[in-house]
Amino acid sequence: MHEVIGMPGRTQLVPAFGVYQEVAPNKSAVEYYRRVHEEFKRLEIVTRTLILEEAIRYLKEKYPAQNYRVVVRGLGGKKYYIFMRGDKRSRESYQEIPFWVRVEDGEVFIPASYVRRNKKLAGLVVGYRMEAIRLAMNKVLKREEEEEKKEEKVEEKKEEVKVEEVKKRAEKEIKKVEEAKKEDAKKVEVPREVRVRRVKNPIVRCPRCGQMGHVAKKWVKNKRGERYEYFYVYHKIPIGNGKYKTKWCYLGRNIPSKLLAGVA
Ligand SMILES: [Zn+2]
Repeated sequence: MHEVIGMPGRTQLVPAFGVYQEVAPNKSAVEYYRRVHEEFKRLEIVTRTLILEEAIRYLKEKYPAQNYRVVVRGLGGKKYYIFMRGDKRSRESYQEIPFWVRVEDGEVFIPASYVRRNKKLAGLVVGYRMEAIRLAMNKVLKREEEEEKKEEKVEEKKEEVKVEEVKKRAEKEIKKVEEAKKEDAKKVEVPREVRVRRVKNPIVRCPRCGQMGHVAKKWVKNKRGERYEYFYVYHKIPIGNGKYKTKWCYLGRNIPSKLLAGVA
């Protein structure tokens, strides 16, 4: 028998993939949905919740007569999304296998009582529900990426405007200085470094370690080639002998707007 979660006499859960493996029509289906599941588990909780909601919306729309619904329940201190089907009061409800998704880490389960009653059906439900999750995941991740792209474009525009402003300011400074030069060469100070670079890669006080550093962007690509960007504060810390060590403090997917407030 499978590993069981929960107390005897109360709801007990069995890891869904163990059951699926035993009854799935072929190995490649199991492998396929395992990969989908691994990706699902790697996501942040917020994204996972969006996907579960999208999956239930999809099932409701595609099969309006089946009365799909989702129930959120706690068990052993963890939150679960339970995919349910059919009417509680109808006799067929005994045939409807609930599919439990633990929101915290994305693990999936079937109640042990249903596995005992009809293992075959319980296993097949895993494939159906994982397919709904797969479709929902594609949709949600695509949407997130598009939103990020949009935000990026807005940011780029803002940055361009800022750079232009700084350039204009710098040109004015230079003009002033040149005029002053003509008047009295001795009094002239060399203009300070143009601050364009600071705008492109702003210097901020790091919310993580409190030191000053540059905001920097790194990105990774997932298996499907989708790009995810992350922001860091990049520190150059002197360690003597004119040498430096670098330190990266993680900021998250977006730069906190507070951080940029007040930066030229
Ligand atoms: Zn830092």
